[in-house]
Amino acid sequence: MKHLELDLGERSYPIFIAPGILADGGMWQKYIAGSQVCIVSNDTIAPLYLARLKQQLSGKKVCEVILPDGEAFKTLTVLEKIFDTLLQENHNRSTTLIALGGGVVGDMCGFAAACYQRGVQFIQIPTTLLSMVDSSVGGKTGVNHPLGKNMIGAFHQPNCVLADLDLLKTLPDREFSAGMAEVIKYGLICDAQFFSWLEQHIGALMARDVELLSEAVYRSCVNKAAVVAEDEREGGRRAILNLGHTFGHAIETAEGYGNWLHGEAVGAGTALALALSVKLGWLSADVEARGITLLTQAGLPIAPPSNMNVDQFLLLMGRDKKVLDGQLRLILLTGLGEAVVSSEASVELITEVLLAAGV
Ligand code: NAD
Ligand code: MG
Repeated sequence: MKHLELDLGERSYPIFIAPGILADGGMWQKYIAGSQVCIVSNDTIAPLYLARLKQQLSGKKVCEVILPDGEAFKTLTVLEKIFDTLLQENHNRSTTLIALGGGVVGDMCGFAAACYQRGVQFIQIPTTLLSMVDSSVGGKTGVNHPLGKNMIGAFHQPNCVLADLDLLKTLPDREFSAGMAEVIKYGLICDAQFFSWLEQHIGALMARDVELLSEAVYRSCVNKAAVVAEDEREGGRRAILNLGHTFGHAIETAEGYGNWLHGEAVGAGTALALALSVKLGWLSADVEARGITLLTQAGLPIAPPSNMNVDQFLLLMGRDKKVLDGQLRLILLTGLGEAVVSSEASVELITEVLLAAGV
């Protein structure tokens, strides 16, 4: 079993990574605070894994909330289902919520935990690669608003994260690739050695070799944990985790959520960020080519959708949360494993890169 600690003072917590950990309740039950547990999952994941989880919770008063599957249901209205159940079942302030699902379930369950009776404890059991390496780590929780994604939320850290690699066996290929976009991101922004390791093992990783996947999830979490420990509330450095995300956000919005998966949009967005970094003279064409090759091998798109135009792109990028005081701040690379937050890329330069990418 691999294990690391996210170091946030009194809000520190462990992340456990191992195949079969879900069925090893003896190891993780101590992270459940009281006698009440509420499992939050969705109607795709519950039939696969809910029974396995509940088996580990005998002796607890367990209830469950099964949400409809999909980003479209990551809303305040659907969130209320969790509060309804918690109140109907008389859950008190010592209850523990357990998120069993991908990033949508994790974000919603975490936000419900942040709000219910002004804050209760929760555990993340991520079931997608993306949620294992990204959304379950770092304490960002929330839901979407019709006017913006993840616009309603809170920082709320879990008691622990349990990443069971066996659960990835049922994950659809597209979702697996989407998770790889974030894995590759860590190599690009802060871990050149990890990037080379990924290049070496990409074939076996895509074949979902469990040993290699454990290592990839572990190294990703170590990198994310280090960035979050330095800047929990995204005052500065944490923004580098958004490499490719401002471009990606524009793609997701233009194409409608779900048509392009988040990771797919991040893949194409990362390719654009690499190209822009080269255009600025900050990055070598060689590193750009290596990045593009790895993204391609991970089954990700490396070009934006051809039905988007430059004006639409710029408009949607400007609406991104990462924009401060009207300046378009982008995450760019100054080398392999070296990212900066910069507003130096002019609209003209961004336009050139978009046109070159076929927009
Ligand atoms: P998701 O939660 O929608 O899951 C993807 C799909 O896979 C869903 O249909 C789900 O039901 C299915 N699925 C999940 N696990 C499965 C399994 N083991 N077997 C079979 N099917 C399975 O998507 P995601 O990519 O995990 O998460 C995306 C969400 O995460 C977005 O809402 C995004 O905003 C959020 N996010 C949050 C953070 C954060 O820091 N909180 C970071 C990144 C992304
Ligand atoms: Mg992301």
